[in-house]
Amino acid sequence: MWRTFGQDRLLGQISGSLRAGRIGHAYLLVGPPHVGKMTLALDMAAAVNCRQPADTHDGPCGDCEACTRIHRGVHADLNVLSIGGDPQTPTRISIRQVREAENFLSITPVEGGWKVIILDGAETLSAGQSESANALLKTLEEPPEKALLLLLSSAEEAILPTIRSRCRLLSLRPMAGDTLADYLASRHGSEPERARWLARLARGCPGWAINALEDPSVLESRSTQLDGIAESEGTALDQRFSYANALAGGFSGDRESVRQTLYLWQGWWRDLLLVKEGVADHVQNGDRRSELESIAPNTSSAAIVTFLRRLQETLVALDANANPRLALESLMLDVPGK
Ligand SMILES: [Zn+2]
Repeated sequence: MWRTFGQDRLLGQISGSLRAGRIGHAYLLVGPPHVGKMTLALDMAAAVNCRQPADTHDGPCGDCEACTRIHRGVHADLNVLSIGGDPQTPTRISIRQVREAENFLSITPVEGGWKVIILDGAETLSAGQSESANALLKTLEEPPEKALLLLLSSAEEAILPTIRSRCRLLSLRPMAGDTLADYLASRHGSEPERARWLARLARGCPGWAINALEDPSVLESRSTQLDGIAESEGTALDQRFSYANALAGGFSGDRESVRQTLYLWQGWWRDLLLVKEGVADHVQNGDRRSELESIAPNTSSAAIVTFLRRLQETLVALDANANPRLALESLMLDVPGK
């Protein structure tokens, strides 16, 4: 049974390849943060190593020893490489990690199945470090027998074309809000109204919603960030610049959290537009509705649309490795209001 949820089209495609014995050696899993890339990668690792006969279930059985240990991340033939795994390069996958992965793949599988590498943060291989990328390309060109490479990225645009062209692409899309809400209620015991609210905040990404259900600090941090965003219209430019600087300072260490902050900005300004257009029932930040309604008259719909476009441009520019401080300062200059 697949643990991945809401990606039926992709699961159908992968099941087909598994049944036909035509699983590839390298896949690139792309999609927004928390959409389920790591869960799918672990599912694929389990599927190729599952001990149960494939005709008794779809994907990995989920119960055998191999499936269980892979999902716990402790299988001898699974190696997960993440950004920060090498303390010397806290912001990217290092050449040392890629070399270790190559060595790992060159050794015969301990348990007789497939050797699987999951590389989370594949976009960092292109950030001016051709050595790691070249080492990986060599492996992608001549993969060892029974080796599976799963590259994960939430910044598809920043992946080197030479890497992308050697991988089969699996593009994970956010789930529909209602589907995610049903899932949170039925599988995670969330009360239905809260499930609907979290599904909306999560923008269709189940990982975020599950984190928010399990860890109160996720919603607390969102609330603090929204306070800052709500005040941005009225704050002086120097304060907005120091905000941009603080955000840019965190970018090299944790670009996903900066993206998440910009998504919050997008959600907030989209909500203001919805309030202005008289469809406040559809706002993402329903818990802030009265605040949105009191602020909305301050700005014209046209100015909001322009700023939403600037937010989108900034996200694209950051993915394309623009200078984060300049990109964010320039965005702060364009906040409607003052
Ligand atoms: Zn199994």
